Amino acid sequence: MKKVTLHDKTFALSIPHIDIQRAIDKVAAQINKDMGGETPVFLGLLNGAFMFAADLLKQIEGPCEISFIKYTSYTGTRSGGSVSELIGLNRELKGRTVIILEDIIDTGLTVGKLLNDLATKRPKQIKIATLLYKPDAFKGNYNIDYIGMSIPNDFIVGYGLDYDDLGRNLKDIYTLCEIC
Ligand code: 5GP
Repeated sequence: MKKVTLHDKTFALSIPHIDIQRAIDKVAAQINKDMGGETPVFLGLLNGAFMFAADLLKQIEGPCEISFIKYTSYTGTRSGGSVSELIGLNRELKGRTVIILEDIIDTGLTVGKLLNDLATKRPKQIKIATLLYKPDAFKGNYNIDYIGMSIPNDFIVGYGLDYDDLGRNLKDIYTLCEIC
């Protein structure tokens, strides 16, 4: 499939599954090399990271644990503002090696907020693994330990990433077409 239409927009194939798999192989090899005697806790950020987490974890050689967490947005009844709350983090992280799994780091705000929230749990160390990274959009002041692939600052869908809830099931990645 060279193009897909989701709702009102058309997207063109930009990263075929074989390239995604290669990127994941690279990240897995780096993590396996770094983990030594550690038993890391992987924290996958829902919804987007579910496919990346599933494919990556199959290649992790040592013992490890995984949980999924999510930021939910709701509108506060008093302030009227939008508040985002971390849910799903119900395990002890004190003294543990944590590896955040993110599908894509764009501005970096989401992972930046997660780093702050996790710091209160007093883990031994926190590492960050992202399948995709948009260097031209990144505004974070932290280091990203494992990057599958750097990509241009365009809107993409597929492999867990959606456009208005559609497209997460696509095994390849597609970029929004300005002129298709
Ligand atoms: P950040 O906080 O780094 O700006 O954005 C992270 C989140 O925004 C990702 O987990 C993802 O849900 C969403 N996001 C960022 N860029 C894209 C994109 O190109 N396509 C889609 N579908 N979601 C994106």
